[in-house]
Amino acid sequence: MDPFDSNSTERANLPRNMIENSMFEEEPDVVDLAKDSAAFPTFPALDPDEVAYEPRSSRLLVRGLGENDMDEDEEDCESSARLLGMSFMNRSSAQRSSSSPYSRQAPPRSCARPSARTMVVCVLFLVIVASMTMVLYFLPGCTFTKTGCPKANKTTPFEPVYPVSTNGELFPWAQFQLPHSIRPLSYDLTLDPDLDNMIFTGRTVISMLVLHNTKRIVLHSANLNITKATFKLGDGEPSDVTVLEYKPNQQIAVKFSEDLKAGQYCVLTLDYSANLSHTYDGFYNSSYTDKDGNKRVLAATQFEPLSARKAFPCFDEPAFKATFLIKISRKPDYLTLSNMPKAKTTLLPSGLMQDEFEKTSVNMSTYLVAFIVANFSPISKNVSDTLVSVYSVPEKTEHTDYALDTSSKLLEFYNNFFEINYPLKKLDLVAIPDFLAGAMENWGLITFRETSLLVGKQSSPLEKQVVASVVAHELAHQWFGNLVTMSWWNDLWLNEGFATYMQYTSLQTVLPQLDIGNLFLAVRFRALDKDALNSSHAVSTEVNTPEQVEEMFDSVSYEKGASILLMLNASLPGDQQFRKGIIQYLKQFSGLNTDTDDLWNCLTQVEVSTQHQNVSEMMSSWTSQKGFPLVTVSLKGDQVTLTQEHFLLTSDNATHTSSLWNIPVTYVNDSCSSAPECRQVFTLKTKSGTFKLPGSVKWLKLNYRNTGFYIVHYGDEGWAALREALSNNVSVLTHEDRASLIHNIFALSRLGRVSFLHVLNLLNYLSNETETSPVTEALLQLNNIYRLLDKRQEHSLVARMKNYILSHFGSLMNKQTWEEEDSVSKQELRSALLETACSLNEENCTHQAKALFKQYVESNGTSRIPGDLQQVVFNVAAQSTEDWSTLLGMYGHAAYDAEKRKMLRGLASTQDVRRIVWILKAGLKGDIIQTQELPLVINTVCNGFAGYLFAWDFIQENWDRLIEKFPVGSFAIQTVIKSATSQFSTQTHLDQVQGFFSSLKERGSQMRSVQEALETIRLNRRWMDKNLSALRKWL
Ligand SMILES: [Zn+2]
Repeated sequence: MDPFDSNSTERANLPRNMIENSMFEEEPDVVDLAKDSAAFPTFPALDPDEVAYEPRSSRLLVRGLGENDMDEDEEDCESSARLLGMSFMNRSSAQRSSSSPYSRQAPPRSCARPSARTMVVCVLFLVIVASMTMVLYFLPGCTFTKTGCPKANKTTPFEPVYPVSTNGELFPWAQFQLPHSIRPLSYDLTLDPDLDNMIFTGRTVISMLVLHNTKRIVLHSANLNITKATFKLGDGEPSDVTVLEYKPNQQIAVKFSEDLKAGQYCVLTLDYSANLSHTYDGFYNSSYTDKDGNKRVLAATQFEPLSARKAFPCFDEPAFKATFLIKISRKPDYLTLSNMPKAKTTLLPSGLMQDEFEKTSVNMSTYLVAFIVANFSPISKNVSDTLVSVYSVPEKTEHTDYALDTSSKLLEFYNNFFEINYPLKKLDLVAIPDFLAGAMENWGLITFRETSLLVGKQSSPLEKQVVASVVAHELAHQWFGNLVTMSWWNDLWLNEGFATYMQYTSLQTVLPQLDIGNLFLAVRFRALDKDALNSSHAVSTEVNTPEQVEEMFDSVSYEKGASILLMLNASLPGDQQFRKGIIQYLKQFSGLNTDTDDLWNCLTQVEVSTQHQNVSEMMSSWTSQKGFPLVTVSLKGDQVTLTQEHFLLTSDNATHTSSLWNIPVTYVNDSCSSAPECRQVFTLKTKSGTFKLPGSVKWLKLNYRNTGFYIVHYGDEGWAALREALSNNVSVLTHEDRASLIHNIFALSRLGRVSFLHVLNLLNYLSNETETSPVTEALLQLNNIYRLLDKRQEHSLVARMKNYILSHFGSLMNKQTWEEEDSVSKQELRSALLETACSLNEENCTHQAKALFKQYVESNGTSRIPGDLQQVVFNVAAQSTEDWSTLLGMYGHAAYDAEKRKMLRGLASTQDVRRIVWILKAGLKGDIIQTQELPLVINTVCNGFAGYLFAWDFIQENWDRLIEKFPVGSFAIQTVIKSATSQFSTQTHLDQVQGFFSSLKERGSQMRSVQEALETIRLNRRWMDKNLSALRKWL
């Protein structure tokens, strides 16, 4: 549950500037120190937490002074400034040092016996700094917004700077991130879950090291009722302590009258009770119905990003790595699982069994801890020195073979590829009946949605592709994320971009028959589409609130992250250099935390080419600024001119238009265009660049195989030459290049750089196209426009668009068979073509689909519909009243999870509004349709004409219930918002969407996905205004 929402009353008690502004939350210690420190101004070694993060206002202030030449004596004053919380470090270096706290152990130089001159300078400096700070801080009628601009403030600023704990005492910490004076070393967790009453009790024993003298221990806890707390310092006796709680930041604290001294060891023991969560995070309950119709309950965990604190009090930030020893009690007919193998089982006096797991052999972040209490069954296999097991509910054990086989192959691959063996003795992959994400990479205990792990023996290769890619992603995390972890959520892409990149590249080697390349290409196109918005963000971006942490789980961190890694790998000479760099990175930082620069530095160090390419310099242009470049090429004889500009769909004339990227531009030409050796590279670092070709050429195609993260404009002549080349011979370019031309021209039309006539002209070549990726990209783009027209009720254009699609793809559609098909690529092509054909009511298609459904129903489960055709068959069936009910009956009993999900999408694709309303409500209620499927249901309903306005009403009416299930900012909520709003294109809808979200205030108005939604509607409207009349002419 969203903590800010549940604790809104506590928030209301805060001074206004603290609620709004995380920047100001960094300030209080400054004032507090000046006020309370008896030693001031002799500056003893105060708690260095106060210097960890600099307030931005002060940074400007001190930088301005600091730029003057300082002599050695004056440097003493820098120490003073540091003690006032005005570190000269930049933010990222502050975070680096927080991950390796020892670097800050040296106490600041003392001002105790300074020279007279130093004294004078120090005092003068302090007076200036203090008065300027006071002026800024107490500026009448002024507080600071997130962007640092002053805005009106009606409250009096003279209020306490520390927040108030639940018991009324001052809470000794006001920041979102924890102080770094204390480092947790190990946790002993004892958990006693009661699945009958959905509660649990726990005891957490945390052993800690004091890194810097401090009078407080601050850690995380959320929704836990702490019943007893004791503290032991060194070899002393344990004594009871009072725990203060500050709910808005989900923090608890213990205050001490005397300093805990640097180097001391101490132990905090906390007893607590809590409810098992009824959402999808923390220690939550799940249930399923077994084959005898009985409801079976279980409990599982999902901690990433901020929910370990809901299961046990802890230092819940990725940089606080520690070891864990976990004990869990259970009924005799249940089993428990955790990160490590089971060490022993004890019979408790209560009759329950207590399982104790081995202490983790590695230091790990809290978000990777996991435990499960359930009655699952496993299948297992030894791979190298690791026991790999796949667990599911007992009824589905027969669907686990593929996952076991695939994970074993991938584990071996990664062990070799990274040259570091997976460090644990066991690896469990567990399918959980209620699970919101696709999967979670908990170390040694990876949890999955059932649809991401379980497939039947007869399942199609396309269904297996889903399982294999999720398994490949999560296994890659065991190195990227688990072994080496980002220091803070701003660099989440180091986990997710890498795992996404490895998921595609490992499968190309390990399971080439899965043809994963088309999927990787398609996700790169979607990442470009999202990143073209002004509301996008840099790959590595500042994160200061729980919502912002949640929002990092988006396609920029995942798919753009993976895309820029692909671009880097493709631009390095040889195929081993990239791998060498990441092996070096993993070895150098094994067990530690990193930021983006660490990765680029490792890759620069192994750079061996004659060009001595500086990877850091090149890649930081891709990670530190949002968006990507549009490269425009012009060709005059043998002279090529390239220019770059920010590809920004909505220009606000802001600073971003001056962004420049370091682009490894690749190109091929008409004389050598498809083989890898044809590829040439030109690095474009400046606004424009020119180079000469060996001779004149007819045309150039840039971004060979679309491995670069940019869009290309060829100008009228360039596009015409490419069109002509393709109409003469489709295979003159690789299929990736053809798909990239299609993607790019649609994007340029959306940008307003080419007319839609240009788009249609290029698509004329498609009558000769038979490859999957160009066809599916064209269908996706055309379907998007078709839906926009449909929702605008442009009936005659909708009919003409339908004719256009059928005339261009009709013969290819009719060539598709309805039998089993082995090739994944052909399955992808077939399902895309037939789903479009049937959705347009193409008679041949609907006829075949209905026949297949009838045969399926009548066979009573003995005949199967080929996996890639199930969706189109269920979609067609769901349009008839009778078959919809049949399908709903089947949905309740479906054995195969992938098939079941397609049935649900079929059910939600109905155009009967009463059924649409029913299915939306059922998804929210969660009994017949699991609530975890609600985002999918909403997405499907919104694609159809009949339901998209109902879905929008439904979301508005049920917003509070939605954010109770899916956290504000989470990927599920992003999906819901995008689905509901991305097809609006009128001012009325824009006003409605804006009105609704701004009324939410802290319940979601600040989300980036809201900005994205508004921007998308404006762009849709702009595109319509510009193209409607032209479409009437051209279609
Ligand atoms: Zn991941």
